[in-house]
Amino acid sequence: MSYTALYRKFRPAEFEDVKGQDHISQTLQNQIKANRIGHAYLFCGTRGTGKTSVAKIFAKAVNCQSPVNGSPCGECAMCKAISAGTSMNVIEIDAASNNGVDNIREIREEVAYRPTEGKYKVYIIDEVHMLSIGAFNALLKTLEEPPEYVIFILATTEVHKIPITIMSRCQRYDFKRITIDTIAERLMDLMQREGVEVEERAIRYIAKAADGSMRDALSLLDQCIAFYLGEKLTYDHVLEVLGAVDTEVFSRLLREILNRDVSKVIGALDELIMQGRELSQLVTDFTGYLRNLLLVKTSDGLEDILDVSTENLLQLRKKQS
Ligand SMILES: [Zn+2]
Repeated sequence: MSYTALYRKFRPAEFEDVKGQDHISQTLQNQIKANRIGHAYLFCGTRGTGKTSVAKIFAKAVNCQSPVNGSPCGECAMCKAISAGTSMNVIEIDAASNNGVDNIREIREEVAYRPTEGKYKVYIIDEVHMLSIGAFNALLKTLEEPPEYVIFILATTEVHKIPITIMSRCQRYDFKRITIDTIAERLMDLMQREGVEVEERAIRYIAKAADGSMRDALSLLDQCIAFYLGEKLTYDHVLEVLGAVDTEVFSRLLREILNRDVSKVIGALDELIMQGRELSQLVTDFTGYLRNLLLVKTSDGLEDILDVSTENLLQLRKKQS
């Protein structure tokens, strides 16, 4: 059997699986339950926060023959066809490579035809900010008078590039960056299901490195597991694969900087470079380490802002005294 990347394998199939965007899932489910479905939605937010996943679940839910509490049943013919990507009702367009007027005109011609099965044709236009001015104008015409059986879901990472005329015709939903806790919890859960042994510290480091993106977190995790296939995934393994540095090393580096010992500082850096550490990552992590030290010094109860595991926090507190 061929290998499926984690982020594909665990792509959310229903609203409940989408993590960290409860405000959006809830609103969309309510709309489906009350049968107050809009014709144009704008999904904004940084990469890997669930925009396309939510769009597909929504497309399933509006076409589902027996939705459960506003969520797709996952069992009916429509749900199955959409999940398998064989339904004609869900049309995904990548605006990065289809950004011209002609591409949008094609859509305008298509929307004249009712769906042959199910209730709605759902057009998901990804990276919609890449459309040309002419394409946006053509799209606007369709958004002004959409047929009742058509739903447009426009997704973008750069909402400031969307013309105001388009925005004013869409319901806008802002996808939040996913917190480290939420990502870590999801990763732990998936690793249990996969039967892979992991250290909590390792998972937290990956969650932090993913910078709010669940997709990035899963890709990084995939990479780390592949490197140490069949072994327990430890914090040290993760640091090694991602080219990162342990806080112990930062502590030593800081002491040498405070002692103004230039040759020792350069020596320490040289050692890190020879170990193959990623320098830009080192700078980011070291800045984060200094930030955490300062915060610990300022006050108590900062666990949430610090983005560090309890163990690391104790270490930091020890450094303070
Ligand atoms: Zn269904």
